Amino acid sequence: MPSLSGFHEKEAADWARGTGQRLSGVAPVGSRVVRIARFTTGDEPEYGIVGGADGEEIIASVVGDPLYSGIELTGAQHSLADVRLLAPVIPRSKVVGVGRNFAAHATELGNAVPSEPLVFLKPNTSVVGPYDPIVYPTASTDVSFEGELAVVIGRICRDVPHDKVSDVIYGYTVCNDVTARDLQAKDNQWARAKGYDSFCPLGPWIETDLDPADLLITTTVNGDLKQHDSTVLMIHDVAACIAYISSFTTLLPGDVIATGTPAGVGPMQPGDEVSVTVDGIGTLTNKVVARD
Ligand code: MG
Repeated sequence: MPSLSGFHEKEAADWARGTGQRLSGVAPVGSRVVRIARFTTGDEPEYGIVGGADGEEIIASVVGDPLYSGIELTGAQHSLADVRLLAPVIPRSKVVGVGRNFAAHATELGNAVPSEPLVFLKPNTSVVGPYDPIVYPTASTDVSFEGELAVVIGRICRDVPHDKVSDVIYGYTVCNDVTARDLQAKDNQWARAKGYDSFCPLGPWIETDLDPADLLITTTVNGDLKQHDSTVLMIHDVAACIAYISSFTTLLPGDVIATGTPAGVGPMQPGDEVSVTVDGIGTLTNKVVARD
């Protein structure tokens, strides 16, 4: 966690774990690790550390952007229920997606399993936050959800060896790699199919201390279970993906890697509510809307 350095790191971590002495009145959260959210109370976006019991979470505001300046509490606190969560990170340069990284998903769409990570880019303008609408494009009649674990990069890096990948990871969040399946087939290139505005919901926050090896990814549409598989089924694990991607492009702090979706993808329609949960992080919920 390279960006969680400095004098205030322990204070913030203690606060999030409910053991901090300086900020009283916060419910203890046992072994919960640090969660960094981006939010607004109606004014400018700000960042905070999420702590407290489930359903009673509190956000403690921090100074500036913790990705670049470390964590320093301002002393202000809000009930999570009183703020609007935003995408926890706006990638400085790019979202890199990994395609067909679960064998059963590759097979369900009639594709072969790639021998190397199959990567594509989503523009940072496709990123939206929790509860933001996914806008159904008029050019498509087959828009699909793809629930995924997302990695947030913490430092500028290139040619990262497998055994050093953890040094460049800031944390993890949840991604819905929304895809216009018909345009993906039609275009050959995936820029449009993966790149529409609102096609990259991220959230609800960044978990900075997590082992990505065996995390359950669960996707529901209107409460109906669609995807339910562990990251242990990834063909190329997080370290392999980042080593591969950084072999050809520089990754910047705040860049996001969407690590691939399990089997069970399917269509969404305007009016549908889609939720992606990654165990150890949280749930990302968005509603699909028709474009005006
Ligand atoms: Mg995907």
